[in-house]
Amino acid sequence: DEQIEPDPSKKTLVILGTGWGSVSLLKRLDTENYNVIVISPRNYFLFTPLLPSCTTGTIEHRSIMEPIRTILRQKKASVKYYEAEATSIDPERKIVRVTDNSEVKGATTETEVPYDMLVIGVGAENATFGIPGVRENSCFLKEIGDAQLIRKKIMDCVETAAFKDQSPEEIDRLLHMVVVGGGPTGVEFAGELQDFFEEDIKKLIPEISDRFRVTLIEALPNVLPSFSKQLIEYTESTFKEEKIDIKTKTMVKKVTDKTVEAEMQGPNGKEKVVFPYGLLVWATGNAVRPVIRDLMAKIPAQKDSRRGLAVNEYLVVQGTRDIWAVGDCAVAGYAPTAQVAGQEGTFLARLLNNMAKTEALEEKIRDLSGSLNLKPGNAAEVSREIEEYERQLRRIKDVKPFHYSHQGSLAYIGSEKAVADVSWFNGNVASGGSLTYLFWRSAYLSMCFSSRNRLLVINDWLKSKLFGRDVSRE
Ligand code: FAD
Ligand code: NAD
Repeated sequence: DEQIEPDPSKKTLVILGTGWGSVSLLKRLDTENYNVIVISPRNYFLFTPLLPSCTTGTIEHRSIMEPIRTILRQKKASVKYYEAEATSIDPERKIVRVTDNSEVKGATTETEVPYDMLVIGVGAENATFGIPGVRENSCFLKEIGDAQLIRKKIMDCVETAAFKDQSPEEIDRLLHMVVVGGGPTGVEFAGELQDFFEEDIKKLIPEISDRFRVTLIEALPNVLPSFSKQLIEYTESTFKEEKIDIKTKTMVKKVTDKTVEAEMQGPNGKEKVVFPYGLLVWATGNAVRPVIRDLMAKIPAQKDSRRGLAVNEYLVVQGTRDIWAVGDCAVAGYAPTAQVAGQEGTFLARLLNNMAKTEALEEKIRDLSGSLNLKPGNAAEVSREIEEYERQLRRIKDVKPFHYSHQGSLAYIGSEKAVADVSWFNGNVASGGSLTYLFWRSAYLSMCFSSRNRLLVINDWLKSKLFGRDVSRE
């Protein structure tokens, strides 16, 4: 019984974003309870944990994308999807302003979408801390387009370095790949890059092979600050073997089209260092999106929040009654990870399903109570029915607040090694190495969105192992 037009008896639930938070919500939401509208500039879900592998072609990008239309088709009641960006939210009028920023434009590119209930899962953008030159000269690693650009640029640097009569200094610069930010994104990318070089480029273009270098720059005293000490040391020593140069206590201050300028904290104080580069990948974490900053400015209760929308333990945006936030744009006291966003989305689905059930039960109780006066003969039976509904209602209403359960942290560090901080049987297991790598592969495979994705990823892994990665520059 597909329903195309919105049902006036139902509330309109607008969901912003098609990432980890919003899609986990959609997966478990009983869509028949609401008129559901999804708005996102990206018409697919992206499995971000395998994005670093797309930068070198170990995995082809379409293998980790799942179209939102396919996801929505599996829902019981029809859900509307608009490919657009939310540009502003008006919590007073309960309206979201949206813009179609895609390449193909129709006569209408901007409009308003009213909501009764709003879930915000728009994620975050890349932090640059206003450091000059970063936006203009770096590649980021957040979206599919970023990974494609990096893949193209790596090969462009390699082919340009191999060009006839290239000077030795220029070859060194072009083959110097600089990664800024020693969080998991920077570390995983550096590992993938080194693999690509060792396993493929070296064989195909041996004449430049001793000049290729990867440098990872981190402002803090060590990389992977969120992992345990033992795994930090394991990562740092593996990188040393892989010849990835880690520069810790080094803060980037300025970027030009060919150099990165940084301040290094040495034993004798601060020292300025300049790194000429061919490719620069910037991975220094998250910043708040403009649409979120704008909404925060409209809500007095958000005045002291800096890193995103402050939410309560039911993920309700503080200072509002009908807006919820999940994932990287919400501040609930957890790290901005897919694991957290996913669990928040699942929690919210349960909450919204319950709210709909509660309303239906309350309505039934109201109707029955009304009929009690009309048909006094049935009083005993009706009262029993009311009691049963009230019991159900109490059970449903008793929703526990959101509680995050940490399943562990995993990161790939190159040369078929991975690190894992996993809690098992109430204890913490920290492990690193090739077995952990197999664990990493099977864990990520099992987390893939669909069996279609899973099959494609296995196929990509086999393909790059058997035939090498595809180095054609598209
Ligand atoms: P996202 O998944 O980023 O989704 C945001 C959605 O909102 C997107 O669909 C976007 O198009 C949409 N959107 C953006 N702006 C608007 C707007 N104005 N209006 C409407 N929609 C909008 N976490 C882990 O736990 N494990 C990992 O292994 C891991 N690996 C990672 C690897 C990389 C390379 C990166 C970048 C991140 C990784 N993360 C990992 C972190 C994880 O991806 C994020 O924490 C997670 O994606 C957050 O989910 P989200 O739903 O908040 O945002
Ligand atoms: P991050 O915030 O974890 O790390 C960024 C790093 O950049 C920090 O260590 C910071 O000290 C450094 N930095 C900042 N400014 C700098 C400067 N000017 N010069 C040098 N270094 C500078 O960012 P991320 O790695 O992109 O991760 C973002 C989120 O996504 C995190 O929550 C992370 O846990 C999650 N994530 C998880 C995985 C995984 O579990 N495998 C992979 C990727 C991302």
